[in-house]
Amino acid sequence: MTRAKRYITAMPKCRFAFIALFSTTIACSAPAPSGPIAMADLPNISTDLMMADIRRLSSDEFEGRGPGTNGESLTVQYLSEQLRAAGIEPGNPDGTFTQRVPLVGLTPEPTPLVVKRGTRTRQFEINDEVVTFSKHVVDEVKLENSELVFAGYGVQATEFQWDDLKGMDVKGKTIIVLVNDPPVADPANPAELDAKLFGGKAMTYYGRWTYKYEKAAELGAAGVLVVHETIPAGYPFSVVQGMGRERFDLVTPDKNAGRAKIEGWISLEAVTELMKMAGQDYQKLKALAATRDFKPVALGMTASMSIKQKMRTVDSQNVVAKITGSDATLRDEYVAYTAHWDHLGVGAAVDGDTIYNGALDNASGVAMLLDIARQLKKVKPAPKRTMLFLFVTAEEQGLLGSQYYTDFPLYPLEKTLAVINVDGINQWGRTRDLTVIGLGASDLDDYALEAAKEQGRALRPDPESEKGFYYRSDHFNFAKKGVPAFDPDAGIEFVGKPEGYGKQKRDEYTSKDYHAPSDNIKPDWDLGGAADDAKLFLAIGYRVAQADRFPEWKAGNEFKSIRDKALGNR
Ligand SMILES: [Zn+2]
Repeated sequence: MTRAKRYITAMPKCRFAFIALFSTTIACSAPAPSGPIAMADLPNISTDLMMADIRRLSSDEFEGRGPGTNGESLTVQYLSEQLRAAGIEPGNPDGTFTQRVPLVGLTPEPTPLVVKRGTRTRQFEINDEVVTFSKHVVDEVKLENSELVFAGYGVQATEFQWDDLKGMDVKGKTIIVLVNDPPVADPANPAELDAKLFGGKAMTYYGRWTYKYEKAAELGAAGVLVVHETIPAGYPFSVVQGMGRERFDLVTPDKNAGRAKIEGWISLEAVTELMKMAGQDYQKLKALAATRDFKPVALGMTASMSIKQKMRTVDSQNVVAKITGSDATLRDEYVAYTAHWDHLGVGAAVDGDTIYNGALDNASGVAMLLDIARQLKKVKPAPKRTMLFLFVTAEEQGLLGSQYYTDFPLYPLEKTLAVINVDGINQWGRTRDLTVIGLGASDLDDYALEAAKEQGRALRPDPESEKGFYYRSDHFNFAKKGVPAFDPDAGIEFVGKPEGYGKQKRDEYTSKDYHAPSDNIKPDWDLGGAADDAKLFLAIGYRVAQADRFPEWKAGNEFKSIRDKALGNR
């Protein structure tokens, strides 16, 4: 199907039939809750205010909003001022706009990776060939002649009868694993991926590098290197290189001793050479790894390296605000919005620029959330349930601020009906559609569909579902604890633009500006489409706040059982 054909204009008889086109698990469900107030009567979002907020937050003065920097102080102050001015209440029950998030910052100083085979050695250079770091909160970690094993995709998934380890003990060893899910061919049509395994084209959590590191820890590996390939990873090696800078983590009681000592990435070129040194062909191994019969390969080589670490503890902050619900009973229930305020701070110069301003990522989402809060404050009748606005820290360091919030929630998660996350907005004008990552995941998509319909727009599934975006922003921490989570993204069909425009702009952004100092406001930005999207998010939140039932995950969703348990199957 072409993209144009996938785009649904007319509402089919079964309103959810279009979802069924893309997902075999979704059937028609109960009618979506229509709004107590029509979309047309809900307040509009101000493009001027959004632009002004983005301009301020992404200015050089804010130094790229690194956690623990002066940029953080300025950001927290700015958000608190804006919220207070709009009459939004401090969201922490202690009467403040902040929740303290204790972080530890680790700056790795690694030696090159030395690989030995018999008497032969080869040194792999840090940054050019490998990028390594450690989560252990200690001064130094070492790999000493740790046996190297190629462990395929590093996946153990009983539901797919998949086990890349086949009983091999990799304790103390260093595993090399592939990024993404195993791409298993459909037996009926080998040109396509098997839709029954690992989500077909879509990425499951097994494909995320965070899973690979968690799995390595569970297996007791001493080291883990994920092979970087641009297309499966979804971003170029330069993005991975950025991970070799200071990294933050939550302060945990065991100081992360349970993690592999050394985690990291190896470039495609480097791993190809490494495999050659072991007498192996990387491409052949990779092809084998895409089958159930794959067995891990002991490479007959060892890896040695050390990382000295500079450590510091930093108190960062989530900014939390609320509009207390107007209904005496329902005000103890919550609808949350999240947007991460942090970005990468100051780092390596690119074209002479060292400030990673993060205008799109995520000054834009913060600006959108600010204006959603301002506008929700004006809606009459006022929301029955309490609206929470969480501007979380350290997303770029591994979703840490939102993890802290969901580990230590200020309001019970089982009474939090939904979370709506904004990470990046549409900066290229109005669209006829809205992308929903993981479309069909929960009842929130029904709310979205209803609101989109009132706007004369349609929903579409993630066109890049292979990149695993659902696992890459703050709502994921809420989903992991069962809270239904809505993760929207910009539409693709731009009004007055040729087909393919959206994809072209998006690809340009990913290759040039994503996590680069050039993520600035561009002269061609047009927030008209973002304002439409924001109004839709406002409508979802508001209508959930007024609804007579909790939104749920759809049957078959991976987070449903967690929620049902948390709610006691009510
Ligand atoms: Zn980012």
